[in-house]
Amino acid sequence: MRQQHCPNDNHGRSVVTVRFCPNCGVVLNANILGARCPEHVHARARRSRNTFCVDCGDRLIKDDPRSR
Ligand SMILES: [Zn+2]
Ligand SMILES: [Zn+2]
Repeated sequence: MRQQHCPNDNHGRSVVTVRFCPNCGVVLNANILGARCPEHVHARARRSRNTFCVDCGDRLIKDDPRSR
């Protein structure tokens, strides 16, 4: 697996309270069960500029394929 440079400080923690990283979307704590979120949870997460939902791992912000 390729090492990603993710600035989210959850990666450096020994105890992580969310399943997914909000920045890169990798599973941080597989012991936390994934959730199915109502849309308002995702709307709020988008406003706090999370790229991924920390509960279900859904991508919240679609990135433009042309910018890659
Ligand atoms: Zn990350
Ligand atoms: Zn979600």
